[in-house]
Formats: sequence, structure tokens, C-alpha cells
Amino acid sequence: MSGIATLPARAPGAERPVLRERGQREVFCGLTGIIWLHRKIQDAFFLVVGSRTCAHLIQSAAGVMIFAEPRFATAIIDERDLAGIADANDELDAVVAQLLQRRPDIKLLFLVGSCPSEVIKLDLSRAALRLGRQFGPDVRVLNYSGSGIETTFTQGEDACLASLVPVLPDTEAAELLVVGALADVVEDQFARLFAAMGIGTVRFLPPRQAALLPAVGPGTRFLLAQPFLADTARALEERGAVRIPAPFPLGVEGTTLWLQAAASAFGVSAASFSSATALPQERGRRAVARYRTELAGKRIFFFPDSQMEIPLARFVSRELSMQAIEAGTPFLHRQHLAEELDLLPESVALSEGQDVERQLDRCRAARPDLVVCGLGLANPLEAEGLTTKWSIELLFTPVQGYDQAGDLAELFARPLVRRMRLAV
Ligand code: SF4
Repeated sequence: MSGIATLPARAPGAERPVLRERGQREVFCGLTGIIWLHRKIQDAFFLVVGSRTCAHLIQSAAGVMIFAEPRFATAIIDERDLAGIADANDELDAVVAQLLQRRPDIKLLFLVGSCPSEVIKLDLSRAALRLGRQFGPDVRVLNYSGSGIETTFTQGEDACLASLVPVLPDTEAAELLVVGALADVVEDQFARLFAAMGIGTVRFLPPRQAALLPAVGPGTRFLLAQPFLADTARALEERGAVRIPAPFPLGVEGTTLWLQAAASAFGVSAASFSSATALPQERGRRAVARYRTELAGKRIFFFPDSQMEIPLARFVSRELSMQAIEAGTPFLHRQHLAEELDLLPESVALSEGQDVERQLDRCRAARPDLVVCGLGLANPLEAEGLTTKWSIELLFTPVQGYDQAGDLAELFARPLVRRMRLAV
């Protein structure tokens, strides 16, 4: 079997070919997003309505974090038949009442659905309305699904942010909205860069506090900071907001083009753009160059996991001179990724969805120097002598923007250095 996904040749002007696979998948469910979202919205609480499995997943994913704080929990709904649903609603109401009494700091409560059948029977949107009436306006209660049946790994963030859109205040103002959870340090850097360019008001979704929900309306121009926010973008567009097409702010090139897209939408002059970004661009380029020497020519294979695979494949190919063999993504949003696909070298095979055994065969045959994959695949592949990088780290680590471009490059260099050390 060939090490590279076999795709038909592309006719001139035709869409870039994608290998679509619909088989067994190896990805986390959307509950995982709680681990970075609970750190971002500081007065929010995520109450997973789920089973013991969900509680274990959240705890073990949180264990990867160093500074996890208890702003999430699982209300365990044990097996019960339909006749027991009224009791389950009563139990949920009692858990929420107890929680809010003990934690007056909570201003935004997310009821997060999961996939066990007992939970699917519960109508969490009605529960959120009921509890919202009881505890509002002090506490806003929303719901979304993190179920493994409906969501993969990063779609949990999409579902969470999409649930916020209907409650955002209205505005007619022409404002920039940055959409997608970014580490505070990255958000502050971007806010400074936009201010230096002269873009007056910039809002962020999600906000750091429930009271800081950004307003939205027909004057809103929004920039996606993450490539996995299809539902959130659609909900914003339904409120009249307009997406600014751009690649994603990973690496120096991605960051520059992302900022440039906003600058063009807000009429920033070339001189203002250049004076705001020239120095950080140079700093970022120098930081990335340190790793290019080690990584140039190394072959890398991306399993579908975070939906960040295509922007990452673009970054490693163009800024680190790595050879990306296959970039797999759980879903390919052609519109949101159009600018990325234009930049991605034609030699990178694209795959969407997964048939994990077939993909493992392709990966083994290709013998890449580095494999980016989920935790479930990393150990077996390491045992076969392949070097891996957990894709989840790319969500837990600040990687966007100029000042993080070197850190992003280092994430790819570190496992190779570790493997070399083990080999000597
Ligand atoms: S939501 Fe479903 S897939 Fe996720 S931990 Fe719970 S049971 Fe497992």
C-alpha cells in the first residue's frame, strides 16, 4: 500500500481533491473543550450532565493541565427508564440550586449534554430555560451538547460559543469581533496590535467575564481565530455579522495575513499596518528560524483530531520547510479554509473523516519522522518506533500570534529531540 493517500489528479480550476473516509474514528468527544473554556470565561461553570465515563474523561483530560480549577463538574445521571425522567429533572434542579448557593461567583452556567441514553432523554434546553427563569438575571443558564455522537474534540467549543450567540446584545456599530478562545496573553497581544493599527473597538468571543458579552449586529465584522467554529459563524451571520475571510493566525505568515484581512476590512493604511506589525513579525521570524534548521526536510503526518491540521500543515510546510505527507481533518469547511487551502502545497494529501485502520496503514507505510495525533493513537505508534505529538497540546498551549510562533515551532521539534536523546 502506498504511504500517501491516493487522490485523482486535479483538472485545471477544479477543487482540490480530498480523500473522504467514513469508518471508525479515533477522536475525543466535545466535552474536552471544557478544559480550556473554563479557564477562559472566568465566572462560568460547566455542569456536564452525563455518566461516570464522562466524569472520568473530564478528570483525566484535566489532569493534562497543570492549573486546572474546579469550574466544571459532572452531574451523574444513572440508568433509568423514561418514567424516571421527572426525577432526573428534579435531581438536576437540586444539583444546580446547591451549586449556585455554594458558588455565588458563578454568573454563567452551561449545562453540557453528553451521549449516554439516559441523558439524551433529558431535554436540557428546557432545563436551561427553567433554571434560567429561576436563577436569572444574576445567573444566565445555557446548554449545549458535548456528546461524542454529535461532536468531536474541538466541536465542543463551537457548540458552546454558538449557544452564546443568541444572548449577545444587539449593536449597529461597525466593530471587529475576534471569535474563538485564545489564551489571555495572546488576546492581549492581538488587542495591542489592533490598537496600534488604529482599529478602535475590538471585542472577543468568548469574553473573560459573563458581563462582557460582546454585542453583535449588521456592522460586526468577525475574524475566526480557530478553524473549527462553523456553527458559531453561522449563528453570527444569522445576526447580520459578516465574516472576514482569512487564514488562521498560526505562524508569522498566518498571523500577518489574518491581521492584514482585518486591516483591509477596517481601512487601515499600509503604512499603519506595517508600523504596527514590522517588529513583532521580525521577532517571530527569528524565533521560527531557530527551529527550521532542525526541522527542514522532516516528514510529518497529521491524523484528524483538532480541525487545526490544515493550518498547521501550511505552517510546517511553508515556515519550517517540513514535508507534510497527509493532513487529515475530521471535517473540512471549504469556505472557512479557502485561504489556507490556497497556501497549502499541492503535495500535501488531504483527507476528511477517518477510517482509522486504513489511515494507520498509510502512516506506517510512509514512516514519517513525526506523527501528530490524538492520545489514543500516540502510544501504539510510539511502540512501533514512530515519533508522535499529541494534537491536544496545540489547544492547551498558546500558539497563535507572532510571539508564540517560535513556541509553535518548538512543539514540533521537541518530540524529535526527545526521540534522539532516547536513541543515544
Ligand atoms: S459524552 Fe459520550 S463520548 Fe464523551 S465521555 Fe461521555 S459517554 Fe464518552
